[in-house]
Amino acid sequence: MSCNYAEGLSPYEHKGKLGIPEVFDDDETVEVKVAKLAEWIRHAKHVVVHTGAGISTAAGIPDFRGPRGVWTLEEKGLKPNVNISFDNATPTLAHMGICSLVQSGHIKYVISQNIDGLHLRSGLKRTNISELHGNMFVARCSYCDREFIRPTSVPTVGQKEIGMDCPWVKAGGRICRGKLRDNILDWEDNLPDKDLDMAEMHSTIADLSISLGTTLQIIPAGNLPLKAKKNNGKFVVVNLQPTKHHKKADLVIHTQVDKVISKIAAILGVEIQPYLPEIDPTCILQTLQDSTNSWKTRSLSDWTIAAASVSKMKSIAAAIKDNKPKSVSRKKRKTDKVNEPISDHEEEQDLFVPTRPPEKQEICLAELSRKNTEIVPNGVHPKDSNESD
Ligand SMILES: [Zn+2]
Repeated sequence: MSCNYAEGLSPYEHKGKLGIPEVFDDDETVEVKVAKLAEWIRHAKHVVVHTGAGISTAAGIPDFRGPRGVWTLEEKGLKPNVNISFDNATPTLAHMGICSLVQSGHIKYVISQNIDGLHLRSGLKRTNISELHGNMFVARCSYCDREFIRPTSVPTVGQKEIGMDCPWVKAGGRICRGKLRDNILDWEDNLPDKDLDMAEMHSTIADLSISLGTTLQIIPAGNLPLKAKKNNGKFVVVNLQPTKHHKKADLVIHTQVDKVISKIAAILGVEIQPYLPEIDPTCILQTLQDSTNSWKTRSLSDWTIAAASVSKMKSIAAAIKDNKPKSVSRKKRKTDKVNEPISDHEEEQDLFVPTRPPEKQEICLAELSRKNTEIVPNGVHPKDSNESD
């Protein structure tokens, strides 16, 4: 449960604005706003969705800064009443709707701060998501840097060894000598390079960014949706509480994310697929646990972002005039400490001044390509052939 996750993190003083009262639009207002958003989605070329803990509360997982959030209650010496294990939680209507809208082509990419693994378990492909803060169902090799889906949630947080060897078989049949670690970031840990690179580039070319269930207080994730504005695009917020960038939004919808996603899918004529364990990679892997060394198991469990995907996105983003990908100035995961009232944050800031110069970015991407070439048999990544975008 998210409390255990929260308790596993290091002490951290600046957790942001907590417990801000929720706001609810009336039904008629929601209908009007959702119709407008659906129209924007219909005409947008590159829709990117940014998700936070608010899309998982319907699964029984508490959020962090809501009126009954983990950090809000912690401040009062309390803990949430509602608890469910990560293993027992299942994707919500919003998770399934987002997955269906990705499959229908209406949403191009998902950028999530959530570590609950519910996007993965909804059937979303790795080519369509950046997980900026980690995933409780994924372990990363400390040596080859590949990521693997686990059949159950990992026992640690903070990128600690989980007591398993890396299963990756290199060219020539040699097995990687690395140890697996959880990939859950602690406060002020650096975000994973490839997830962040992909998130930045998709955010840069987005002409419509939709923020779902987050108060956008954690940087750099919370600043990424604003990049669409620099591309003359639109920025939409769906959240019950006011957000850090509330007044920069072109549209703010105060209602449950499930409700918005289901209405949008209906307007766009997209059928939301129900959650089925048969499409959940963690459940599929549970049935294969007796053959952990088989190629099928290793292939199914691979959750590594292909270096080819990063290169491809870099080319696409660089081709857009005046919108070449830039690094965010703050790579560490932490609370934005700008001490302003959260609902009165009107001044446009230049939030994306690159500190990592373009030449350095080139080097980083080249390094990733080299690394991938070294560890992939025949130079072909098993996911490359499945890339749809
Ligand atoms: Zn490895």
